[in-house]
Amino acid sequence: MIIAVDGPTASGKGTIAKQLAAHFGVAYLDTGLLYRAVGRQVVERGGDPDNENDALAACGFPDDLLEDETLRSEETGGLASRVSIHPAVRKALFDRQRAFAEQPGGAVLDGRDIGTVIAPDADVKLFITASVPERAQRRWLEMTGREIDIPLAEIEQDIIARDNRDIGRKDAPLKAAADAVVIDTTALDKQEAFDAALKATERALR
Ligand code: C5P
Repeated sequence: MIIAVDGPTASGKGTIAKQLAAHFGVAYLDTGLLYRAVGRQVVERGGDPDNENDALAACGFPDDLLEDETLRSEETGGLASRVSIHPAVRKALFDRQRAFAEQPGGAVLDGRDIGTVIAPDADVKLFITASVPERAQRRWLEMTGREIDIPLAEIEQDIIARDNRDIGRKDAPLKAAADAVVIDTTALDKQEAFDAALKATERALR
């Protein structure tokens, strides 16, 4: 069983994907972390994230980098969205994601192109979204909780820039697969969002 969960940044897709994996007892992969690791590695090597060759060379990042907490910062998210534009990077990360999706026990993957490129054959495809102000507010609350002081307007600008890069890129742009169930979580709390996702998943598996 493959469950694909796509959507823009701070839409709640990661939380939903993790909860679905726990509910069904299957493995979970946050594919954004792979792009974040490439973004971090390219900078650590003194390379340019906008240069395809530099970004490709960084795809051989060490596995323990995936455990690094700094990967979750806004700054690294921005680097990830820059390296993810390059087709060679997406190609280099394809096999790893595909092998994860195909594992015998089943898997949930979240990202931007899981239902469209990595697993067009997924049993379930969800596209989780929410308005920009709502996503900015959620990210701001999360960061304030971690005692990171950043103006809400700055987060909103960052989200808009990342959305534009993810939606506008030529290779594997962020978009809902034609057969995905779109769930708008703007007016939903975490429990309601998970309930809606679970219901859609159970319906698709029937
Ligand atoms: O999901 P997350 O915010 O961690 O992703 C960081 C960036 O990595 C995204 O903005 C996107 O540009 C890129 N990404 C991608 N394809 C994926 C997952 C993430 O292009 N499957």
